[in-house]
Amino acid sequence: MRDYTLADATRDAMKKFDIRASKKYGQNFLIDPGVLGKILEVSAIDKDSMVLEIGPGLGTMTKQLCERAGKVLAIEIDKDLIKALSINMSGYDNFKLINDDVLRLDLKSLLKENFGDIKARVVANLPYYITSPIIMKLLEEGLNLSSITIMVQKEVAQRIAAAPGGKDYGVLSLSVQYYAIPEIAAIVPAEAFMPMPGVDSAVVNLKIRQEAPVALEDEALFFRVIKAAFAQRRKTLLNALYGSGLNLEKSWIEELLKSCDIDAKRRGETLSMNEFAALSNKIWLFLK
Ligand code: SAM
Repeated sequence: MRDYTLADATRDAMKKFDIRASKKYGQNFLIDPGVLGKILEVSAIDKDSMVLEIGPGLGTMTKQLCERAGKVLAIEIDKDLIKALSINMSGYDNFKLINDDVLRLDLKSLLKENFGDIKARVVANLPYYITSPIIMKLLEEGLNLSSITIMVQKEVAQRIAAAPGGKDYGVLSLSVQYYAIPEIAAIVPAEAFMPMPGVDSAVVNLKIRQEAPVALEDEALFFRVIKAAFAQRRKTLLNALYGSGLNLEKSWIEELLKSCDIDAKRRGETLSMNEFAALSNKIWLFLK
């Protein structure tokens, strides 16, 4: 007789609790034990770890997290999954479930309430329709985190980890790399999920920086300059920054770029984070 697989368990749980995978909530349940093992391995969770899981689904990965971690706090938006999750997880007293939309929650207070001052590790097979908003919320809200291990669409993983010079490098690369050090840990084929998504995925590990990688006069301005530089990728830096809402005359931009040793004909996608930092600091001084 063949072994009872994760796919069988997922199918049975869906039948038992009358669950249909919701497209609206981006539900693609993980059914590959090798991939699950890889996520657990790179997340480096142990008995001292406080884990925040986003979108536990039917609880397949959640159980493994509870076996290894000190505490697991999970946030699931779909009320139709709550009964199945509660029953599946009833054997674990280190598990807590919140039925809500992660994007609406005050995560800072929630982490403090549940984990005190201990840095949390986020582990999630993210719903693809809101991947970037969730990642940016986790990074921008000053949360007490040490790492984020996530499954995302392969293209998003490549954009997150991209270096200057290529087509994948952009606002997402710089925004994530400002807060964290990304590493693509595995490429995951669509067959690892039930139902199968239309795209391949990747496991990304983000090691949260405890100090900013560049010294900035004004963080908001730094990101405004980056967004302006990439708003029209084909334009030169000079033309992209001119008329971008930064209210700078062309001749001023030329001077500012020159003072940073940056050729005005370059495109935004060729600038390193250090160059964007130097440029935004010069613009800040000029506008002050
Ligand atoms: N962790 C499960 C697994 O690996 O099989 C399910 C992953 S599935 C790709 C994404 C999960 O996120 C679903 O359970 C979905 O209901 C949940 N989800 C979607 N949007 C959410 C939101 N805004 N807040 C919290 N959970 C959400």
